[in-house]
Amino acid sequence: MARTAGAYLDEYLNNIPTLASALVVHPAVDGLDSGAALPLFTSLKAQHPMLAAITLVDSSGRVIASAVPGASDEHPPAWFRGATVKESPQVSGLVTDPASGTSMVTFSYPVRSVRRDGGVLGLTIDMTRLQGMLAAVPLPSGSVISVTDTNGVMLLRSIEPVRYVGRAAIPAPTTSLGYREDVDGIERFHEEFALTRAPWTLTVGIPRDQVLERLRGLWIRNVVVSGGAFLGLLLVALWLASTMAAHLDQLQRAAQRIADGDLVAALPGETAATKELADLRRTFGAMAQNLKQTRATLDKQFDQERSMNDALQSLQRQVVRQERLAAVGLLASGLAHELNNPLQAIVGVCQLLERSAPSEVQPEIDVVKVQSARAVAIIRSLSRFGNHHQSAPELIHPAEVVDDVARLRAPEPGRPAIAVKVSSKPGRRVSANFAELEQVVLNFVTNAQEAVASLPEDDRRVEVCVTDVARWIRVEVRDNGPGVSPDDEAKLFQPFFTTKSVGKGTGLGLSVSYGIIQSHGGAIGYVRNEWGGATFFFELPVVESDAMMGHDDQAVLRRPL
Ligand code: ADP
Repeated sequence: MARTAGAYLDEYLNNIPTLASALVVHPAVDGLDSGAALPLFTSLKAQHPMLAAITLVDSSGRVIASAVPGASDEHPPAWFRGATVKESPQVSGLVTDPASGTSMVTFSYPVRSVRRDGGVLGLTIDMTRLQGMLAAVPLPSGSVISVTDTNGVMLLRSIEPVRYVGRAAIPAPTTSLGYREDVDGIERFHEEFALTRAPWTLTVGIPRDQVLERLRGLWIRNVVVSGGAFLGLLLVALWLASTMAAHLDQLQRAAQRIADGDLVAALPGETAATKELADLRRTFGAMAQNLKQTRATLDKQFDQERSMNDALQSLQRQVVRQERLAAVGLLASGLAHELNNPLQAIVGVCQLLERSAPSEVQPEIDVVKVQSARAVAIIRSLSRFGNHHQSAPELIHPAEVVDDVARLRAPEPGRPAIAVKVSSKPGRRVSANFAELEQVVLNFVTNAQEAVASLPEDDRRVEVCVTDVARWIRVEVRDNGPGVSPDDEAKLFQPFFTTKSVGKGTGLGLSVSYGIIQSHGGAIGYVRNEWGGATFFFELPVVESDAMMGHDDQAVLRRPL
């Protein structure tokens, strides 16, 4: 405000030096020509109403010409100072004409006349005219514009000039908020501006209540603008937060599904609110993919370990079984040997009695004979389990043994067909007793056929397989029956172990088979097969000369019985 009013006043005062610089070089002035200067001054004064006087004095202060009537006398004017001649322009203090009461200030300019000692041109401004100009500046009510000179004397005042102009304006101390008590006792907010066209200071004072009134409007506007901006920011932040929360929620739900084991859980939607969220989504997807692959690998490893574990446990069971069977075999053969002699004696006595006894006791003798024969058969089985060869071994083809058994177990109503696979070369043989091997295979096949008997006829599967593995011939009988329970596995080859009803099974078939295979230096065993049923097998060493011969490609032979 002060800057604007100051610039306005400066612009106005600018006319003074412009006019002075034109006048000091004018021949009438330069020549201190009273007669020429007077009409010039009079006409100029008429054109510039703000000028109260135009005066030209010589170096002694004598008035040469003056546009003010009656001012032309021998006394130097009040503003004249001899020292100003040939020096820089000067501004006088405030002078009040006692007659008219007009306040005036004179701007004096040296005139460097070459003909005389020079002079001074004085342009006197009517300050009351400036007064009116300042009063016209639009300001809040009660505001005041004042102009003071370097001595602090008030030259102009837009309000109550008569009362304060010409007096020293001693400023009251300024408060921290920039307010100061004015000469009229009213507290105003002051702003100052140093004029450039005169050594004066222009001050604009706005009453405190006006400032507060203006500021209130400003505050309200600021509050409204800031509140609106804050609200806008809040809405944007809320929108961003809710969008991010929705995306994070999706991620969290996907993470939960992954945690629950659903690794194929894809992230819904492809767009993300921010680049960071898009990156997070991508990283998350990659992590889920990695987890999926890792789990697939782990599952595979787990399956491998489980099947290795199963195989290991099966081997352990077989070892335990072999040891137990070896002990039982020793006991059984000793028992058979010890019982055989008294039994032979009983059979011999029976034959003697049969000849000499009366006919009425003949039935009892027959009972003793039958039961003794049964006991002899059991003793023979027991001694076979105990590793005793019944007859000398010969070179035989296991496939021929299997063929023979297949023929023996020819299909009957309700009995399943046996598929026979032979993959050994006919030339490769084992050293064994044909009848004994036949008994082993027959045991296996009979048990397998009984195991599948409860299945529908079309579903029954019994398969005999002869394979030639390095130096061993392996014979397997596989069925898709219920298999053997893990608890019973350890007892399978023990004498008299049976799960069949009394009269149907003796529990000697497998134990005898065990004895036979053991006596041939082979191995016998059981494994659960891929159908969930039983696979009984035995392996016998190939005769050395045959073992040197090569293999033919696998041949599969199926023969319905
Ligand atoms: P038996 O047949 O007289 O019972 P084994 O020594 O031949 O005597 O068989 C002993 C037991 O082994 C059987 O009672 C049966 O529990 C079991 N077994 C043998 N072979 C099979 C098979 N193929 N499937 C299921 N269990 C079998």
